Amino acid sequence: MSTDSNTSGKLFSEGKTQFYVPTNSLEQSPPPRTPAFFNTMAKLKRDLLITIFDSYASQCDDKITFSDTLSGVGATGIRLANESNYIKKIYFNDTNVNAINYINDSLKHNNLNSLAEVSTNEANKFLSNFTDRENRFDFIDLDPFGSPIQYIDSAIRALKINGILSLTATDGAVLCGVYPKVCLRKYGSLSLNTEYFNETALRIMLFSLASISSHYELGIKPIFCHTDKHYIQVYVQITDSISDTEGKLGFLRHCPECNHRDVSEFPILSCNLCSSNCKLAGPIWIGNIFDKSLLNISIDNSTDSNLTKLFEIAISESSMPPLYYVTDNISQNLKISSFPVETILSKLNENNFISSRTVLHSTGFRTNANVNEINKIFI
Ligand SMILES: [Zn+2]
Repeated sequence: MSTDSNTSGKLFSEGKTQFYVPTNSLEQSPPPRTPAFFNTMAKLKRDLLITIFDSYASQCDDKITFSDTLSGVGATGIRLANESNYIKKIYFNDTNVNAINYINDSLKHNNLNSLAEVSTNEANKFLSNFTDRENRFDFIDLDPFGSPIQYIDSAIRALKINGILSLTATDGAVLCGVYPKVCLRKYGSLSLNTEYFNETALRIMLFSLASISSHYELGIKPIFCHTDKHYIQVYVQITDSISDTEGKLGFLRHCPECNHRDVSEFPILSCNLCSSNCKLAGPIWIGNIFDKSLLNISIDNSTDSNLTKLFEIAISESSMPPLYYVTDNISQNLKISSFPVETILSKLNENNFISSRTVLHSTGFRTNANVNEINKIFI
């Protein structure tokens, strides 16, 4: 019999689903890790995953499998099992037995047991059980505390060719340039603290994914990226074509004098606008980070205007140059009043440059104009 609470938890509603969560996770901020972790603030993240999952699955011939690899209370997997029409089986896994109890209660409450397998293995050990070709997952979510780097190899080996890996990092200070040496040690790439820090961070994650995939002659195709102040997340398709990575790995240079930034396959230290010495970051992924075709399907599948807007912006920036600008920093540097993003977009358009917003920053924009050309518009 279902009730609205069990020994240590409460029934919580999100999307079209009810599931059990620890009572203290609804009362404390940030939510505690014991008895099990659940973050109410991550609703948008779960909404995005479900929409992208459905969009991908709708293009597959059959229903598909999902690995909720570090599932916590299983909010993502329970919602998917209940809300998606494309689930063949969901595999929940967490070493925390309290979390497993919440998952089992929620599965029972929603009558979803036939769609679920639940286990309590260490994540790499769990993923290693699914490396045989016939057992591999269609879609894997990896959302650990801190860095996901230690799980990437196992995840790639447990994923079908052309399957999707959703990878989240919460060690933002490392990836965003506060600790570049730690980033070099962990991710094999130097990070850099700039106004577009989160783009550098996710491009480092994509570099790591591409690099580890290439050990198996596999390539990557980024689908969507999303960040907020607590996490950086990338959705990537793992392909059987190593050529998908060719020409997509490189470096970024940022000029501290004139604010010029760009990417190239090989490191270049000198600024091509003012000849000053630039700061370097990398190796990073310098290819596209959004997949127009899957995002168009995601717009069709979206029932939430916030998600639709994010997908529309991502499509608009999918063919734009890397490394966005922030309007407030431009007005500050030029000592002029701040202006809305729309103003710069229309001015760039009037001056025959291409431009777009970006999902990575609310007042950010992308353009093929360089920093001198942008500044000239305002002087
Ligand atoms: Zn310069």
